Amino acid sequence: MNSQSPSALRPRRAKILATVGPASRSPEMLRRLFLAGADTFRLNFSHGSHDDHRQSYAAIRALEAEFGQPIGILQDLQGPKIRIGQLPGGPREVAPGETLTLTLGTGDIPLPHPEIFAAIRPGHQLLIDDGRIRLEAMTHDAKTITARVVAGGRLLDRKGVNLPDTVVDLPALTEKDRADLEFGLSLGVDWVALSFVQRPEDLALAKSLIQGRAGLVAKIEKPSALDSLAEIVAEADAIMIARGDLGVEIPPEDVPGRQKEIIRLCRQLDRPVIVATQMLESMITTPTPTRAEASDVATAVYDGADAVMLSAETASGQFPAEAVAMMDRIIRRTEAHPFYAASLTATAPRADTANRAIAEAAVDLAGSLDTSAIVAFSSTGASGRRIASYRAPRPTVLLTADPAVARRMSLVWGIRSLIDREVTDHDTVPIMAEEAVRRLGIGDERDSIVVVCGFPFGVPGTTNSIRVTPLGRKDIP
Ligand code: PGA
Ligand code: MN
Repeated sequence: MNSQSPSALRPRRAKILATVGPASRSPEMLRRLFLAGADTFRLNFSHGSHDDHRQSYAAIRALEAEFGQPIGILQDLQGPKIRIGQLPGGPREVAPGETLTLTLGTGDIPLPHPEIFAAIRPGHQLLIDDGRIRLEAMTHDAKTITARVVAGGRLLDRKGVNLPDTVVDLPALTEKDRADLEFGLSLGVDWVALSFVQRPEDLALAKSLIQGRAGLVAKIEKPSALDSLAEIVAEADAIMIARGDLGVEIPPEDVPGRQKEIIRLCRQLDRPVIVATQMLESMITTPTPTRAEASDVATAVYDGADAVMLSAETASGQFPAEAVAMMDRIIRRTEAHPFYAASLTATAPRADTANRAIAEAAVDLAGSLDTSAIVAFSSTGASGRRIASYRAPRPTVLLTADPAVARRMSLVWGIRSLIDREVTDHDTVPIMAEEAVRRLGIGDERDSIVVVCGFPFGVPGTTNSIRVTPLGRKDIP
């Protein structure tokens, strides 16, 4: 990475996560998305071949070297997605009131997942094709389920099935997920996202396979995950509010409130949180969003999300770069609005540990003094995440010697990371901090900066010191 010529600080705190797909896989389009504002890229392993993902990965790393700016790469695993099988008679209409038979083996409507037949109970819902078709289970045995159609429609082959009422004993990672994970880790992805997390133990399994080689993102898209949300957030390194599946499994009117709760909890536990799905959906086919979509992105930003995500808009839509540019504009306008700071303050985390109190104090100082930035020295990124959770009114620069830490920070609110040498003594702390803000073009001679670090140096978890350092005063060490 060419850390001598970093691109300037982006005038925005919330980050943009853009999904790569056929519409954006070329190096030229990835470059356009990065320049329009994409901070982290999602490789969606529900689609695409390993070769496709390998090429996207290489092109993104090339951008990172060209611009001297760490870029995050998130591998999204498909997870135990449930689908009906091939319909023997082809697509067909199903009408409300009709009784259908789902079968494990060959039959009218194949459902090739034995675990469902064991776990389903009369009255449980089966939602097919993003909830367009709704069934209610009546009877079941080990090989058949009879169900009444509540909402009908055209039933197509291989459509997804959501079972909001049933905790299905599916492995958290399928065979495909395990193979994809090995591949992703061999590439060097920064984050791995686990789909359809049901319980905290699902994350423990994934962590034992990842072994610290990437951060783990828990996708919240099942009601059972909401039941043990605090444990899941604590166990994960980041959270994605996966509103696509979540909004099928819980009533859509419950999603906005849940979004606010999840974001607040993530800030309290300093885990970065991503709001995902349908954010600028109409931009898949039109160059401008609906007013409701602009409002949805702004709401996620007011709620205090670390990052907002684009899915099909950038993966397969007709206007990938325009969608990123639009998201960038909405975020910047929202962050400039006078109500924004107040809404973040109202939801600030409690400073209930010494580490959090240090982070809060640094943010308070930066706001009350004439400072131009906070500079945090961090070997693991943990103190950067804690500072971010207080949503500082000044840019926060994170200095780390570890490129993997720097890359992961590209999902965290307000943090710009730089890769630097290891800090070894007190005297170099203000010098390195000042160099860092100069490299990013922040601050002028009259300003000072707030520097956060830990002694002894290089020992994780020791953040214990705040220092206010004037800029450009070489006489003061
Ligand atoms: P997906 O996850 O795009 O992988 O389904 C996001 C969601 O469900 O919202
Ligand atoms: Mn999903």
